[in-house]
Amino acid sequence: MAKIPMLKPIVEIDGDEMTRILWRWIKETLICPFVDLKTEYYDLSLPHREETGDQVTIDAGKGILRHQVGVKCGTITPNTPRMEEYHLTQLWKSPNATIRALLGGTVFREPILVPCIKPVIPTWVKPITIARHAYGDIYEGVEYRVPTAGTAALVFTDTRGKTRQEKICDFEGPGVLQSIHNKDSSICAFAHACFRYALDKQQDLWFAAKDTISKQYDQTFKGIFQQTFESTYQDSFRASGITYRYTLIDDAIARAVRSAGGFVWACKNYDGDVLSDMVSGVFGSLGMMTSVLVSPAGNYEYEAAHGTVTRHYYRHLQGEETSTNPTATIFAWTGALRKRGDLDRTEPLIAFAHALEQASLEVIASGRMTQDLAGLCTGIRPVILSSRGFIQAIRLQLERLLEGGSAGGIG
Ligand code: NAP
Ligand code: MG
Repeated sequence: MAKIPMLKPIVEIDGDEMTRILWRWIKETLICPFVDLKTEYYDLSLPHREETGDQVTIDAGKGILRHQVGVKCGTITPNTPRMEEYHLTQLWKSPNATIRALLGGTVFREPILVPCIKPVIPTWVKPITIARHAYGDIYEGVEYRVPTAGTAALVFTDTRGKTRQEKICDFEGPGVLQSIHNKDSSICAFAHACFRYALDKQQDLWFAAKDTISKQYDQTFKGIFQQTFESTYQDSFRASGITYRYTLIDDAIARAVRSAGGFVWACKNYDGDVLSDMVSGVFGSLGMMTSVLVSPAGNYEYEAAHGTVTRHYYRHLQGEETSTNPTATIFAWTGALRKRGDLDRTEPLIAFAHALEQASLEVIASGRMTQDLAGLCTGIRPVILSSRGFIQAIRLQLERLLEGGSAGGIG
């Protein structure tokens, strides 16, 4: 069979540990035999980030700005033990934070559903996508320990030198202080990204915060979302039969657990960090959670939501066959290839991405799966495969679909 051509490259960002191993197997077995793969390759493994003084991370981000589409492997965010393990000269920043800072935008995390894998919340029959604002709040916060008694104040100096000062607290003794910020421009871009994504997915959009307590900060988010909705999206939402609603975050959580799923949930940075792990936990496994960073300029970076699966990697290094789930990483590749196909109008590439997803889901639905899914499987007796065995099973299923021309989108 002739390989499927690509008109333009995608940016390929390689990473660390077990996900780096899966990355190679996925490419060798599931992609390169079928697609004439064009990528601009960046090696973001920790040793190479160290070697380049982390310049390679910046170059990779700029690569996405040039080519619009990237796919990223899991990478280590170093902490002190990693500094010794990898003989680092400094604690390099999280690559995801560096790339997000370059691209801006919003991270959307969506679970991959398979009928035989039952969510812990049985009513969740449709996916819930968490849209996490990727700027500001505690992630760009300033904080310190207050050593002794004293007064803390919040001070703002405008460009003409005029200041405004509000007392925060009179400390009678030691304590702790934190300041956080956000920008209207970033919140506005976040709101647009969420409304567009909901329209794209044809799903309701929820936004939740705590404006009853945070009468300036969270109220600003709520107001910008409402204005953006009314000025730009109200009519298209109505025409699509989908809705936008603002809810208090505690109320949203109570409603979400009783819902059937099937909506996009816009969250402030910290809420999205926490809730995306809750949502992936309920839906089953981190190995089934995809993630895409969508920038306001229309750039896309696809990845799995999980990390480098260190525990499995150490077992792999000892010669053990691990049963690490490659599904989210496969879907990162299909997401990027499909987007490349959409942008370049290359139908065969889009059809291939569909076929590879379909093959992966059909293998799991047939009961052949990795260890993490086996305990969640109902209605069928699971056969636990190694990562390699699972990828090989997908390869055979993919060949069948491509030969039969019966894959979704092909024909
Ligand atoms: P992790 O790599 O997501 O793994 C945590 C645990 O979740 C694993 O030990 C495993 O549980 C389970 N798991 C995750 N993905 C799985 C998969 N595909 N298949 C089967 N099980 C899976 O998180 P971590 O151990 O906290 O972090 C490891 C490294 O990844 C750290 O250096 C961190 O900095 C980095 N990280 C990177 C990213 C990113 O690049 N986007 C995100 C998060 C973390 P069991 O061991 O119980 O099987
Ligand atoms: Mg988190």
